[in-house]
Amino acid sequence: MASTRILIVEDEEALATLLDYNLTKEKFDVTIASDGEEALLKVEEEPPDVIILDWMLPKVSGIEVCRRIRAKAETRNIPIIMLTARSEEDDRIRGLETGADDYLTKPFSTKELIARVRAVLRRIRPGLIEDKVQFSDIEIDRVSHRVMRGDKEIHLGPTEFRLLDHLIQNPGRVYSREQLLNAVWGSDVFVELRTVDVHIGRLRKALNKYNQGDPIRTVRSAGYALDSE
Ligand code: CA
Repeated sequence: MASTRILIVEDEEALATLLDYNLTKEKFDVTIASDGEEALLKVEEEPPDVIILDWMLPKVSGIEVCRRIRAKAETRNIPIIMLTARSEEDDRIRGLETGADDYLTKPFSTKELIARVRAVLRRIRPGLIEDKVQFSDIEIDRVSHRVMRGDKEIHLGPTEFRLLDHLIQNPGRVYSREQLLNAVWGSDVFVELRTVDVHIGRLRKALNKYNQGDPIRTVRSAGYALDSE
């Protein structure tokens, strides 16, 4: 199997080199771009499997790079992990709307970054994922489509199952309605955003059927996350 191609877009040379070294060691095929313009050229030349994108970049900003990648059909679905500095934290929600899949705040460990890369890959390459996924007292079995909460079986409709399957891959992460829509319904279907709310409501109700607590957190104007209390 060809190795996974990662494009690192980072103008801090020392950090780019460090990430390159560590990701290459994990058998990823790494390319580096040191500004936004170079990143867009490289994505066009050969779309990578994952992009690690710094927020603050010379020439074209990280957020603009993200926007342009998301605007093109050929590159729209490439997972993007955004790197931000602590002072830029307020911009995270804005980034979420732009369509980054995940975030890491500097400084971060390379171990954490590799874990996030694997998590986004699991989302886009379902063949690689495990049959059973567990979070807190919730367990889903992707083969039998069974969901357990503690020792109780939870019955979900197919859409609610896919929603839970998506949320459980990144507990604690807030997904916008658009992101859930694209992940669960697909980006070519026209579905109103409030449909997401309706199905989240059903999922919530089903998961809490035996009063075990509501594991879904609503983040006002941002979206939803699966969380333990
Ligand atoms: Ca930078």
